[in-house]
Amino acid sequence: MSHDNISQLGEFGLISRLTRGVQSGCGVITGIGDDAAVTQPTPGMQLLTSTDLLSENIHFRKRWHPPYSLGRKSLAVNLSDIAAMGGIPRWALLSLGIPPDLTLDFLDEFSTGFLAMATEHDVTLIGGDTCSSKAGLTISVTIMGEQYPQQIIRRSGAVCGDEIWCTGTLGGAALALQLLEGGADQTPENDAIMARLLDPAPRVSTGRALSESGLVSAMIDISDGILADFGHIAELSGVGGQLFAERLPLPGGQRQIEQPEGRQALERALTGGEDYELCFTARPDNHEKIASLAKKCGVAATPVGIVTDSKNVVVCDSHGTPLDMSRGGFNHFS
Ligand code: ADP
Ligand code: MG
Repeated sequence: MSHDNISQLGEFGLISRLTRGVQSGCGVITGIGDDAAVTQPTPGMQLLTSTDLLSENIHFRKRWHPPYSLGRKSLAVNLSDIAAMGGIPRWALLSLGIPPDLTLDFLDEFSTGFLAMATEHDVTLIGGDTCSSKAGLTISVTIMGEQYPQQIIRRSGAVCGDEIWCTGTLGGAALALQLLEGGADQTPENDAIMARLLDPAPRVSTGRALSESGLVSAMIDISDGILADFGHIAELSGVGGQLFAERLPLPGGQRQIEQPEGRQALERALTGGEDYELCFTARPDNHEKIASLAKKCGVAATPVGIVTDSKNVVVCDSHGTPLDMSRGGFNHFS
């Protein structure tokens, strides 16, 4: 289909096409169609609001990213922020800057993917904005969630002696990006690793279960690599940390970090972006409870380090000796 179909629809035709799959949801008094949406938060809960902007050729490439999974990911990265606070996602706004060459098929699949992700997490699309773009496809999503005040988990609560945990595996999205940049095609064999980049699963139920359990002191989602993202917890909590290289859960299992391939996997795990796993801290005596809670959520949780009273975050071998990563491409963190 050509762009003519989009212009023939006109702005309002396009909006109703984009939003035709929207169902009413929890707390939505007035959804799409008025000047503003009206929502009713759960009494006693506080509102959590976050927004992300995805720009074509900066955050995604149309030639790699199928529109259905791009729609899913546009919401997933926002859901991940609500998950990191231990929140319950509720409502989303979607704003699109649409370039002249975008096809109606692309938009249809994009919105189907977006709304499928929304349905999976009981999120209702309550509004947005639609305009044309001269600078590629631009996608802005705002999400609102809620939680009781005492269950909201911040970056600032980590305490010296806490264990540092992460969910899932780390570095898979960066590996997929490397493969795509190297010219790899998406095949059934590399489907799982490609999904880590193109269709990430936000850890909403795990984040919520962790916060509601009261076992966790600080939490963040891992969008820039655990080294940088745990670094934010450390900074805001006024602590440091040791991350144990050999404990980091790598896609495809552990590897010898002395080998070049193992070292690359380690670097991707530490500094690769877009994994959208959770990093959290908890007292060591909560260890068993956290392990079984994660198991119940169907997500792996791995203790990967320890919070210290130093002012920096270091990567250590299994003996606690800091690793010299300076020649391995970590210089942007020095
Ligand atoms: P306004 O002129 O008040 O900005 P619009 O004509 O832009 O209103 O939008 C009409 C309705 O459609 C509003 O409820 C708005 O939130 C919604 N809307 C517009 N674009 C989108 C979109 N891309 N996704 C979801 N809702 C949208
Ligand atoms: Mg508008």
